[in-house]
Amino acid sequence: MLRFRLRRRRGPEAVRVLDRGRGPYCVRDVLIYLLHFDTPYRHAGHYLGFTKHDSVDERVAKHAAGTGSRLMQVVVRAGITFKLARTWEGGRVRERQLKKQGGASRRCPICLKLKKEKNENPVS
Ligand SMILES: [Zn+2]
Repeated sequence: MLRFRLRRRRGPEAVRVLDRGRGPYCVRDVLIYLLHFDTPYRHAGHYLGFTKHDSVDERVAKHAAGTGSRLMQVVVRAGITFKLARTWEGGRVRERQLKKQGGASRRCPICLKLKKEKNENPVS
């Protein structure tokens, strides 16, 4: 009886999500985040990463301390500041998809806002 109730509570969706999960995190637990650099570093203006759902702030703080990833380490060392531009639900697969598609600035609300302001007030 108890077993039946537990199974019902998790439902078919829970099973699907667990099935899709790969690696250390399942899809539901992962958040993809986009960091926007206030000044571009060489060709890079953004950093796309993923982390556990409840630890984005922690992860961003790590990046700010220069310990999160290699790119962010050099960016921080170069004195470049950055902002958390946006997040997406999804796991590694979605992260790869977004990375492969490229064009982070088209998905970055900060860049879009800057572009819009530039179009509205063109420098003549
Ligand atoms: Zn941006």
